[in-house]
Amino acid sequence: MSARFVVPGVWRVTFPKVNVNVYLLDAEGRLVAIDAGPPGGEERLLAGVAGMDRAPEDIHQIVLTHAHSDHAGAGAALADATGAAVYMHPAEAVLAARGETGPTPTAEGRGGRLLWSVVRWSAPDHFPPVAADGALLDGDAVPGGEALRVVETPGHSPGHISIVWERPERVLFTGDAAWSRSGPDPGPANVDADEARRSFQRLAGLGFETACFGRGRPITPGASARFRTRAARLAG
Ligand SMILES: [Zn+2]
Repeated sequence: MSARFVVPGVWRVTFPKVNVNVYLLDAEGRLVAIDAGPPGGEERLLAGVAGMDRAPEDIHQIVLTHAHSDHAGAGAALADATGAAVYMHPAEAVLAARGETGPTPTAEGRGGRLLWSVVRWSAPDHFPPVAADGALLDGDAVPGGEALRVVETPGHSPGHISIVWERPERVLFTGDAAWSRSGPDPGPANVDADEARRSFQRLAGLGFETACFGRGRPITPGASARFRTRAARLAG
């Protein structure tokens, strides 16, 4: 399974069983992984790296959006295989260090409950513990100088973060703070639904051309306009 090209510098590796996307960024020759995939997912991800004609040790940083097993489950194995440094929000790091997912998100609406039940069924509550090499807070740049800016987007989980790649054609990585279905949407399952909606509104206030979601297809170009339209409808 190769990594799929999204826009220059961004590739997507999909894990169909848990319906999760991991992104590989090529930042001036150094690769960054946004999330790691489910337990055992490192093999699929490294196959994607090989498909890009790159080596495992080309991954220098692993950024985990949150400590759910479908995103962070392969974090420890991927760090071992690559030597990459792992970064996440401190509120998620304490959970990930124990291999725990933390409070269980509650699904909203019939469609949301159905979607979330599939995730819950396929993603275990526990995963191989992964240690953070550094903490990421709102406004921080991911260490390494690749202009990856942290946006705190709690709601789906307490310490959930999204990432904006600050380059001329800006790219947003939402993790589970937004899902892509018929368009961008706050995720259907959250620990705090109000907070999740506020986080979505916050993302809608940022400018970006491309949005890459933890679930669903990327949107490009004009992604932030799609967020604004959706956010206006949610607010109205
Ligand atoms: Zn999640």
